[in-house]
Amino acid sequence: MNILLDYNLNELQDLMEKLNEPKFRAKQIFNSILSGQSLQENTTLPKSLKEKLENYIWNPIEIYREFKGKDAIKFLYKLYDNNIIEGILMSHRYGNTLCISTQVGCRMGCKFCASTLDGLIRNLSAGEILGQVVAVNKYLGGTITDRKITNLVLMGSGEPLDNYDNVLKFLKLATSKDGFNFSKRNISLSTCGLADTIDKLAKDFPGIILTISLHSSSQEEREKIMPIAKAFDINTIIKSAKNYCENSGRRVIFEYTLIDGVNDRQIDAENLKKLTKGLMCHINLIPLNYVKERGLKTSKNIEKFEKILKELGCSVTVRHSLGSDIDGACGQLRRKILKGENNG
Ligand code: SAH
Repeated sequence: MNILLDYNLNELQDLMEKLNEPKFRAKQIFNSILSGQSLQENTTLPKSLKEKLENYIWNPIEIYREFKGKDAIKFLYKLYDNNIIEGILMSHRYGNTLCISTQVGCRMGCKFCASTLDGLIRNLSAGEILGQVVAVNKYLGGTITDRKITNLVLMGSGEPLDNYDNVLKFLKLATSKDGFNFSKRNISLSTCGLADTIDKLAKDFPGIILTISLHSSSQEEREKIMPIAKAFDINTIIKSAKNYCENSGRRVIFEYTLIDGVNDRQIDAENLKKLTKGLMCHINLIPLNYVKERGLKTSKNIEKFEKILKELGCSVTVRHSLGSDIDGACGQLRRKILKGENNG
């Protein structure tokens, strides 16, 4: 499939050459697609060029439904092949953060997550990942030069490091000066811990904020809730986190979803302190969003767990998940809609 949003400016210039068109048309196309215009809405290109571009996909994704919560808007997007993905926009004092998906479904199998229940359906291309930013920026009245989204978090459905090449290309496109020009420090990538690919990222694209979904400080317990733990043990992940810190000069964030009776004991907090000793990091404690199919419940000890970590000298905060009233957690809304449970 030829998705124009997959192209960077140089590649679009090569395409113009191939189509016997002047080079400057590439920038016009780039500006138009990144502003979310449809081929019909575009008024700068001549009809003859538009005809040549008819076999190319101009807008690979569109907002299909939106759900407004008290602190966030959840979007369902439709892809050109009718697959559905989801995203969430959170507004803060300092700007708008968009949470984006990198795959349709996921094959990591985490026991508390709704995105992975049906496995991986397919990877998203770089342009489909960027298309989510384009669609919501347009929804907010923005254009390529007047960007309304300040921060991006790759924390929607999918495992970004399991779709590495497309995600890397997306990161280059999103931070490109010709394009949206996001600053690296305003982009976070969350991974369940593919240590070898974290090492690749440290070489290829350091500087974005690396977030690691740890969720347990014990190898044995982690294996029970996150199958990927069998491939990369917890010490290997910590080693990769250190390496990323050294290469990027930034602290790493650990996500720790507190699950009742699974990872919320005093000993879990103490082990977490030991594990992260000497590492430049911050710990985000997250109450578990209840997923019906999973049956796990959020911890009753969240404040206590935070207090223990603070007393041990950890940098830690509780992230009260935005959008829990609209099925904010990964993959929940898409699943409900596909199963026809939601008439709202
Ligand atoms: N695959 C990546 C990114 C997607 S999930 C990763 O694992 O990091 C984004 C975050 O939401 C992860 O930390 C994930 O573990 C967490 N998450 C998934 N389901 C959740 C739930 N039901 N409640 C709270 N957090 C959840």
